[in-house]
Amino acid sequence: MSTSAPDAHVIDHFFSAPSARQDRWRQLHTVARAWAKGAEKRRVVEAALDEVGVIEEFHAFPGQQLMTALRERLQSDDAGGFAPLAQRISLATITGNYKHDAKEWQAIDASLAEPADLLPSSLGDAQPHRPYFELLVLTPAPAARWPHIAAEFRRLRRPEDAFVYEAVLVGSLEDAICAAVINPDIAAVAIYEGFALKSRHDAPVLRNVLAAQQPTLAKADDADVALRLAATLKQTRPDLDLYLLSDRKVERLAGDPRAAMIRRVMYQIEEPLELHLSVLEGIKARFETPFFDNLKLYAQRPIATFHALPIARGKSVFRSPWIRDMGQFYGLNLFLAESSATTGGLDSLLEPTGTIKRAQDMAARAFGADHVFFVTNGTSTSNKMVLQALIAPGDIVILDRNCHKSHHYGLMLCGAQPFYVDAFPMAEFSMYGAVPLRTIKQALLDLKAEGRLYRVKMVDLTNCTFDGHIYNTRRVMEECLAIKPDLIFLWDEAWFGFARWSPFLRPRTAMGAAADIEAWMKDPGSLTQYERQHAELGAKPSTEALLDTRLVPDPRAIRLRVYQTNSTHKSMSAIRQGSMVLVRDVDFHTVEAQFHEAVFTHASTSPNQQLIASLDVARRQMELEGYGLVMNAIEIALDIRREVNTHPLISKYFSIVGADGMVPKEYRTSGFTDFLTPGLRWDDQLRSMREDEFCLDPTRMTLVCGTAGFDGTGFKGLLAAEYNIQVNKTSRNSVLLQSNINNTRSDVALLISVLLKISNGIETRLQHGGEEARRTLAARVQSLMKDVPDLPDFSRFHETFRGDAGKATPEGDIRTAFFAAYAPEQCEYVGIDSPECDRRLREGPEMVSANFVIPYPPGFPIMVPGQVVTEETITFMRKLDVKEIHGYEKAKGLKLLRADALMHGRGTNVLEAGRKKPRAA
Ligand SMILES: *Cc1c(COP(=O)(O)O)cnc(C)c1O
Repeated sequence: MSTSAPDAHVIDHFFSAPSARQDRWRQLHTVARAWAKGAEKRRVVEAALDEVGVIEEFHAFPGQQLMTALRERLQSDDAGGFAPLAQRISLATITGNYKHDAKEWQAIDASLAEPADLLPSSLGDAQPHRPYFELLVLTPAPAARWPHIAAEFRRLRRPEDAFVYEAVLVGSLEDAICAAVINPDIAAVAIYEGFALKSRHDAPVLRNVLAAQQPTLAKADDADVALRLAATLKQTRPDLDLYLLSDRKVERLAGDPRAAMIRRVMYQIEEPLELHLSVLEGIKARFETPFFDNLKLYAQRPIATFHALPIARGKSVFRSPWIRDMGQFYGLNLFLAESSATTGGLDSLLEPTGTIKRAQDMAARAFGADHVFFVTNGTSTSNKMVLQALIAPGDIVILDRNCHKSHHYGLMLCGAQPFYVDAFPMAEFSMYGAVPLRTIKQALLDLKAEGRLYRVKMVDLTNCTFDGHIYNTRRVMEECLAIKPDLIFLWDEAWFGFARWSPFLRPRTAMGAAADIEAWMKDPGSLTQYERQHAELGAKPSTEALLDTRLVPDPRAIRLRVYQTNSTHKSMSAIRQGSMVLVRDVDFHTVEAQFHEAVFTHASTSPNQQLIASLDVARRQMELEGYGLVMNAIEIALDIRREVNTHPLISKYFSIVGADGMVPKEYRTSGFTDFLTPGLRWDDQLRSMREDEFCLDPTRMTLVCGTAGFDGTGFKGLLAAEYNIQVNKTSRNSVLLQSNINNTRSDVALLISVLLKISNGIETRLQHGGEEARRTLAARVQSLMKDVPDLPDFSRFHETFRGDAGKATPEGDIRTAFFAAYAPEQCEYVGIDSPECDRRLREGPEMVSANFVIPYPPGFPIMVPGQVVTEETITFMRKLDVKEIHGYEKAKGLKLLRADALMHGRGTNVLEAGRKKPRAA
């Protein structure tokens, strides 16, 4: 698919190792065929084989035997034998057939490396394939012995093993890290002490990254080096099981606190079977899905049900002549697994003590949280639960006005005072970015100046945003904690749950950042860092100084309280509405009872078993193959970005906005521009992810279609109706494409071919339509791309709903305003195009919104209850050409709170006014 040479984009070597590998095999196969036809020189084939060779050292397949067979054919000028073998290997690496088919490991004319019964398919075809993984073995043994060591591991296989693996052998620390990064099939690592440090190959990028550690590593002793390698591996891939094999006092080593990340420390000359069994057990610990496993058992039991739920066991369905097709469509298991019972084996989601509790605990381990709660009504509900659990009436919550509506509704329900902060606007696409940290700090400092800092409970932000803006979660939390050390953070990571499985993205997730802050707090140097800054800033730092300084919190004072919600169904294999709440809160015990109350408030008492099971299974998948799947999703996104932006015809009409287009320069201080920038290196990308205020999630692609004369909604409709392509949200002039853990390169090919077809269509139309057609398109593009409405910032709450708000701070009482509208006599309607609207804007009295008004797109509330309607908002609404506006009926106009209901100023009890007893006549 990719039109570029493998070396053209260095960063791809990391981001897209699997496809770089496949591309190289394909390339080898192509030149081999040409060689067989006499159209290519042997030298070229040899060079291609060398290219492949380096990568293959980090993979079990094709392995040394097949590679040797290839080389022999090359050396003996056997072009006719080389090409088919290269083709077969190339195909096997793409299909992954070697994971269960022993034949793939054979060279055509060579005998089998091992007896067939030891190879993965030895259980016979009747049985489903056992899942396959690779064990990385880091050893001081000479390379000549590696095939024997791999064969020894193979000999340990037993028919009763639940999984099979092949060993990948490497001899140095650098190679071990390379292998773990490049090869997603590696699921466990056995480290034998005494290994070398430097790779046999040139690994400049890796050296760069490791440079900071190298000098100390060289001096460290074996055990120390092994432990540090373990730390590096875990940092890259927390999913890996690590085993350390030492020939010294293993008891002492095992007791080293740094060895906590190692699954088992073993004595090197112990039975190899012991290691084999441990490795399999480690995989099993991730494979296990307590709730799902139990549900499967439950479904098999003969059970007579006398509870509500007629479809349980499928009886009401399969016996019915009228609805049997539903049973046939979904299959019997769905009904066998349906139950409303929480006893008799199935746990209760509302009070879990059994398999659901264990499934949640395993999810906590996988996601890096202290606690995980499964939610079966979507993240909309997760958000409301967290808000209710932590926020009481009157508490101030600083939040992005553009966040998902569940936050606004959640705050309305709990009577919080939302303090809306605005994200940076991207008017050219009619969308918002994310909230600058300076704005958030300013809000906290303003509240402090008003003496109301104590009222702020929480900062609530969306990470990443719909359009892919990723916060520097660690920096946001650290700087906010420097101003108020017990602030709670709610990170809505509805889209971003998958990010944990990318070493690039993980530090920017809520849980990844929380772990880093925790580690920082424990580091003795942190206090010095804080004290130095404290002294520098002086006793009374100015607001400007505080805003301009990257604030360091007092590590002794911090109460780290981090919550994350994620729509597991949006980025992982959970059924729709499957969601999780992740908790990393040192004070959770103080709110645990409230938290459960909030769960009781919002969760259904009839949670869906299949949904819970899918959350359990989604966790299993990510723990076992998440790293490779996420790498693939990112790689596909980079492919799409490159193909669209470099295709000579497509790029005439369409483009995908790069990181530089999505994140203004002032937030990219590392100098990072875009993923596709030529010469970009792995460490540039890492630095950007570490330092920049905002980054772009590469998997979220803003495809500009306005330049082809399409508005977002129209283009989305066209793709769906004509080409079976579904896209995510739209803006005035763009659609959002998203790559996922389910995408393949064929999807990329389909998308590109469709964009090409559409581009060709435009070309043809322009050719046939002449000057007139060109003018029409130009006018349309002008309207979509240039005549874009300014985005209205949050105006303000009406004084009536400002309660005890500070003089200069904008928080308000959204709940009172919301319920004031329940009294019809307190409401009125004004059409946005009416003369009355203009008059009110000019002369007053102020118009005050009675409810939320949320246009789709862009999907954020341009009005919230109690908000004063300003000219900017009206102008925006008038220019907005979308059909779907929640909370607004075009025929009636804006629903407003009547001025006479609001006459009595700040703190008026509007609700009381609305429910006055009628005076006796
Ligand atoms: C989708 C979404 C939600 C709501 O999640 P559901 O699982 O659909 O209920 C919340 N926040 C954000 C940012 C979202 O994108």
